[in-house]
Amino acid sequence: MKQPYQNYMNGEWVAGPHIVPSINPSNLDDVVGEFAYADAALANQAVQAAATVADEWRNSTPQQRFNALDFIGTEILQRKEELGRLLSREEGKTLPEGIGEVNRAGQIFKFFAGEALRCGGEWLPSVRPGVRVQMIRQPVGVTVLISPWNFPIAIPAWKIAPALAYGNTVVFKPAELTPALAWELAEIISRGGLPAGVFNMVMGEGPTVGAALVEHPQVNAVSFTGSIAVGRQIARKCVENGKRVQLEMGGKNPLVVLDDADLDIAVEAAANGAFYSTGQRCTASSRLIVTRGIYSCFVDALTARMKSLKVDDALKPDTDLGPVVNQAQLEKDLKYLEIGKSEGAVMIGGGERLERAAPGYYLSPALFVDTDNRMRINREEIFGPIAAVIPAQDYEEALQIANDTPFGLSAGICTRSLKYAHHFQENSQAGMTMVNLPTAGVDYHVPFGGMKQSSYGSREQGSYAREFYTTVRTCYLRP
Ligand code: NAD
Repeated sequence: MKQPYQNYMNGEWVAGPHIVPSINPSNLDDVVGEFAYADAALANQAVQAAATVADEWRNSTPQQRFNALDFIGTEILQRKEELGRLLSREEGKTLPEGIGEVNRAGQIFKFFAGEALRCGGEWLPSVRPGVRVQMIRQPVGVTVLISPWNFPIAIPAWKIAPALAYGNTVVFKPAELTPALAWELAEIISRGGLPAGVFNMVMGEGPTVGAALVEHPQVNAVSFTGSIAVGRQIARKCVENGKRVQLEMGGKNPLVVLDDADLDIAVEAAANGAFYSTGQRCTASSRLIVTRGIYSCFVDALTARMKSLKVDDALKPDTDLGPVVNQAQLEKDLKYLEIGKSEGAVMIGGGERLERAAPGYYLSPALFVDTDNRMRINREEIFGPIAAVIPAQDYEEALQIANDTPFGLSAGICTRSLKYAHHFQENSQAGMTMVNLPTAGVDYHVPFGGMKQSSYGSREQGSYAREFYTTVRTCYLRP
C-alpha cells in the first residue's frame, strides 16, 4: 500500500483529511510512516458500515468466525519478528518486548477462534411443569474499541478478537501515537474473509474521531483502555445513552517486599515491574513497599541492578530500556522527578536525560527512596521509568500502604511465607495479584482487569470477555 496509510471501512481503504507522521522515539529523524487520520464524518460512516452488517454477522456460523480469527492469528504469529521490529521502532519498547507483544496478539486471536466454537448457553428446568428455560448468549451489536499507545497490537487484539468471535461488528480506533501496528493489524484482518463492514478501523484524534464514535446512536457498546480522565468522559456519555461500557485505566501498583523474601527474586521482580517497557505499563510497579529488615539490602541490590540496565535505541540487541514514547511523556517524567525532590523524597540515581547516537527521548531509570505514600509521586500515575521505595514496619503496615491508593489494577508481594502470600492475595485491593512475580506480565487466556478507579465494567480477556461482548436472552418454551 502506498503512503499515507489509510483507514479501513466497509471493506475498502479510505483516505482521511489529516496526514500525520509517526516518529520513531529512538531516532527522531526516522519517520515510521505517514497516516491519513480521519475526521468525525468518516468515523460516522464507519459506524454506519458496522451497523449495516450487524445482523448478517450476528447470524454467521461459529465456523466462519473461527476461520477468520484463526487466519488472523496464524499470520500474526508467522510475522511476529517483522511486526515486533516495527512495534519497537514506533513505540520504543525493546525488540524482545516488541516481538513478545506481537506473539501475544497472535495467541489471543487463536484463543478466541476457539472461543467462537465454545460460546454456549445454559439450560435449567423451569419451576413450572412442562416448561423448559434456556439462557442463550447473543452478540451486543456494534462495538467501538478504543486503545492506548503502550500496547499497540496486544490491546487491540484483546478487544477485536472477542468482539468478532462472539458475533459483533467492530469500529476500532487506535491511539494517535502508534498507528503503524494498528494499520498492519487492520491489513491482516482485511484479508481474513470477513464480510465488508464487519471490521472497520478509523485512525485519528481522540477528542474528534473517538468522541464521534462514542456518541454515535448506532453504537451499542464501547470498550476503552487509556487514561482515567478520558475513561470517565466516555463512561458518562455511554451511561447517558444506555450503551454498554468497559474501561481499563491507570495504575499505581504496589510491590511489597517482606523481610523473608528471596532477595534476588524481589530485586528482579522490582526491576522488571518498575522499569521494563520504560515503565510505560499500566501494571508497572511504581510503589515498592519494603519492610525494615530487608530495606537497605534491597535498595542497594536494586540500585546496582538499575545501573546495569542499558538505555538505548529500542532495536539494538543489548538494550534493556528503550526511550520514553514522546516529548510530552518525557516532560511529564521530568516534572515528576522535580515534584519528588520538592516533596523530600531522596533520589538515589538515574533520572538523567541521555544522549545516544541518534536524537531520542532517552531517560535513565530513576529510584526514589525513603518516600511516604502521601507524596504525589506515590499517588499519581507517572507512566515512566520512575519508582519509589516506601518503608514499612511489618506485613500489616505494608498491606495497609499497598491498599492506600485510588487505583487497584495489579499488586505483588515477595515473600517465602505461605500465610502472608495467601492473606495478601485475599486482601490486597487489586484485580490481579502476584506472588514472587513482577506486577506486570500476564497470561493471555485468563481475565485481566482491576478494582477501584483502575477499571469499570466486566473483565477483558479469557472466556470472561464474553460477559461484555454478549448479552443473555432467557427463552421459555412449552413444547
Ligand atoms: P489516553 O486516555 O490519552 O488515550 C487512549 C485512547 O483514547 C486513544 O486512542 C485516544 O485517542 C482516545 N481518546 C482520547 N480522548 C478521547 C475522547 N474524548 N473520546 C474518545 N476517545 C478518546 O491514554 P494513552 O495516553 O493513550 O494511554 C496511557 C494510559 O492508558 C495510562 O493511563 C495507562 O495506565 C492506561 N492503560 C491502561 C491499561 C489497562 O488495561 N488498565 C493498559 C494500557 C494502558
